Amino acid sequence: MATVEVLTAPASPSFSLDQENLQSSNSHIESSIKTIPRFSGAENDFRSDFVTVPTAEMLNAPQILSLADNWEEDPTSTELQNYMSQLTGQPAALLVLSGTAANQISLRTALGAPPHSVLVDHRSHIVTMEAGAVSSITGTNGHHLTVIDVQNNATLTTADYDCPTRLICLENTLNGTILPLSDVKAISAWARSQNPPIHLHLDGARLWQAVAAGAGSLQDYCQAFDSVALCFAKGLGAPLGSVIVGSQAFIKRARLMRRLFGGGMRQSAIIAAPARVAVEETFMKGRLTETHEKARRIGEAWESLGGQLVHPTETNMVWLNLDEANLSKEEFWKIAADEGIKVMMKGRLVIHYQISEAAIQQLILVFKRVLGKRGQARSNGHVTNGVKRKIDALG
Ligand SMILES: *Cc1c(COP(=O)(O)O)cnc(C)c1O
Repeated sequence: MATVEVLTAPASPSFSLDQENLQSSNSHIESSIKTIPRFSGAENDFRSDFVTVPTAEMLNAPQILSLADNWEEDPTSTELQNYMSQLTGQPAALLVLSGTAANQISLRTALGAPPHSVLVDHRSHIVTMEAGAVSSITGTNGHHLTVIDVQNNATLTTADYDCPTRLICLENTLNGTILPLSDVKAISAWARSQNPPIHLHLDGARLWQAVAAGAGSLQDYCQAFDSVALCFAKGLGAPLGSVIVGSQAFIKRARLMRRLFGGGMRQSAIIAAPARVAVEETFMKGRLTETHEKARRIGEAWESLGGQLVHPTETNMVWLNLDEANLSKEEFWKIAADEGIKVMMKGRLVIHYQISEAAIQQLILVFKRVLGKRGQARSNGHVTNGVKRKIDALG
């Protein structure tokens, strides 16, 4: 189950309901949604890109006025599905509740009866946060899976003791890094040339980010796959919702699986209307590229102060090497909380479009405190773990 992204926030004074606004708007029903959101706290929250607060436009989405009780009859939901199908160049789309639902419904839809195996990168969300019987592999280049990795690890034989690979799942972006389109195309061509063809699924919860970084178009990426899961709540800012895109036949079966997984909801326009606004306002208007620029600046600030990064900053994530800075996860979290900044303990910073400039300046103060400590340890003559490792590496 998806537990790793459980938030460990410091008690935040800014994350509070503005009672005064609430009361005044309650007395003027016509303005009830226009003055929302009253929650704040996203501007200094680097834990993930799902921490964004839905905008007034999302919550006030005019299309929400259609509220048919059936997924297939509701125009707001069907229009969103048609829109996503056009954007991705895939024949059909299906709205689901979450990214995990999108992946697991897709996997179940693609797989027939056992024996079968699914091949995925060992670091991917499908392995680390969704459970399941999969064979996971490590990319030999340390960055992303290539067609060679896939070929070397797929089971193509069907002897009695074999568990043939029926499904390959890629993730993009993974840890904020981009899976290049050329590698996707090579894997896709190989998977499709097998007999029977191997289904290729993309966990594209953050595919928006790769596209915003200029790695390829949404259509180029999506058309190389047999199914793609895209998330409206990660980075784009919708309150919830994901979509699966694929062939008509795939989506027809996925609709059945969505039902089986308990995802056959009523009045889905409540999800679809804000999701549509999120795609149009955040992704289509280029707001994600701003977050990449901020991420680059944050990464550079850390490095210029002597810190190291675990992964390159290619999109909206900055991975601080806390070990090398000789800092425990708890210490890092505590110093950040002390400066009013919310972080995950693991040293991953995620930049979303609601992060403020003031928060970035405050974060750099955190960096100075954190890395200043290391400088102190060094000048005091303590050879600490991190420093020792660095000396070893130099030797
Ligand atoms: C967040 C995420 C998911 C799961 O989304 P939920 O809506 O939390 O279920 C799946 N894949 C990736 C890559 C994600 O980042």
